[in-house]
Amino acid sequence: MAFIFSGDDVCQTTTPTPIPAPYWVAFSHSSANLIGIALDDTGLPVDKEWLGVLSGNQLNTSDHHFSNPIATVYSGHQFGVWAGQLGDGRAILLGDIAGQELQLKGAGITRFSRMGDGRAVLRSSIREFLCSEAMHALGIPTTRALSIVGSDLPVKRETFETAAVCARFAPSFLRIGHFEHFAALDDVDRLREFADYLIQYHYPDSQNTDEPYLNLFQEICARNASLVAQWQAVGFCHGVLNSDNISVLGLTMDYGPFGFLDQFQIDHICNHSDQGGRYSYHRQPQIMHWNMACLASAMIPLLAGKSDEALAQEKLRSALDQFPVVYAHAWQSLFRKKLGFTTSEEGDIDLIERLLQAMHDSKVDFTNFFRNLGKLKSGESLLQNSLRDEFIDRESIDRWFDDYVARLKLESVPDEVRQHAMNQVNPKYILRNHLAQTAIEKAQDKDFSEVTKLLKILNKPYDEQSEYDSYSLAPPPNLQAVEVSCSS
Ligand code: AMP
Ligand code: MG
Repeated sequence: MAFIFSGDDVCQTTTPTPIPAPYWVAFSHSSANLIGIALDDTGLPVDKEWLGVLSGNQLNTSDHHFSNPIATVYSGHQFGVWAGQLGDGRAILLGDIAGQELQLKGAGITRFSRMGDGRAVLRSSIREFLCSEAMHALGIPTTRALSIVGSDLPVKRETFETAAVCARFAPSFLRIGHFEHFAALDDVDRLREFADYLIQYHYPDSQNTDEPYLNLFQEICARNASLVAQWQAVGFCHGVLNSDNISVLGLTMDYGPFGFLDQFQIDHICNHSDQGGRYSYHRQPQIMHWNMACLASAMIPLLAGKSDEALAQEKLRSALDQFPVVYAHAWQSLFRKKLGFTTSEEGDIDLIERLLQAMHDSKVDFTNFFRNLGKLKSGESLLQNSLRDEFIDRESIDRWFDDYVARLKLESVPDEVRQHAMNQVNPKYILRNHLAQTAIEKAQDKDFSEVTKLLKILNKPYDEQSEYDSYSLAPPPNLQAVEVSCSS
């Protein structure tokens, strides 16, 4: 059940602004199945009213009535600086469906739109839609996308583009920024109301601990630590890890200028607007930790009550100190699996780190290297293995392969078993920027087939799908530098 915000200042009851002549751009079957929307043979809802609802033009289907759409306020730190009040400037929560909150992004202005137009363009909607579904299929916690509805309504960004509405859903869209908003107002009553809701509906086990609010904090930290480890393991860079884009449920959310690594560069910056590299690949864990520190500050009044602020700070600080521990544990476990290890041996971390350094030095394709590593057969001569050709310093990678093969011997697992297990954690297909860009350009010419095709391929990222081999290739040199920025 969606959180009922008390007070007009933090929650606006509002309806989406209609868009002219809406049309379907994309629709996710698996999302529809999850929330119980019946589809016809063309893969679109049987109930034609859904086009109107998911474009923001009406509130009723034959079976559903979204009677109380809302937009909420939140605040947050953007690029490390307190940005004050933000909010659902262009996302409107329609209501609950099958235990999920259904939200329309780009559905027109709200009281919290500030200078914005409340809209989203087709380009960024396609990126959010495809990446939400790709992340879900990778097994990474994320908000989901249901559909994109387009319109020829012009929207001004760097140039004129057209509008789109992306329908997305999640058990909750609440963010660290919601905590920060109430804390900044010194509104401890509503801060507590908010935390109590989270405990009741999303963290019920916290209720049975000695200190439910402290436990809530620990659980939010743990989920986000595990989340960022999962991002690192598939080479996902979020791009804008501001505290208002961090979920209280540990979901990947607010897809903007994200990027999956093609060539492995530990300091890769995916967001063209992030000149300082604050949100570069290797800083993501540290930045998530920083965001958890923002949450800790916001939660001090909950733990302190009327009395001991120093003690509350101390408890939150020592809980916060667990973040790197939880993260490192998750990261190590994921990278061990990527290398095909089922047990843990003393030299494993050194082996992982040496590999990543070598991949960085030679700019090796992150996804394809791990996928192909799974094809290695024990006893095979490494000199003939094309994997080593990817590396500039052959001597050093040969030493690494020798150590790796020696380590695999400790596993005593048949090649096929190891290969199968590695294929479950090393995807073949990721949403590379150049693939998204091709789909966007076609869609801008009203051909949505590439969006549908990409959705289909990315729904099964760990399957061979050999007919789509070309979608697993690294981008050709002329498509390597697709630039994405905060413009959306
Ligand atoms: P983002 O960088 O997309 O996470 O957005 C930061 C804040 O700006 C959020 O509060 C958004 O709701 C708001 N925002 C972004 N774009 C628009 C827009 N076109 N119109 C209104 N608000 C927006
Ligand atoms: Mg956001």
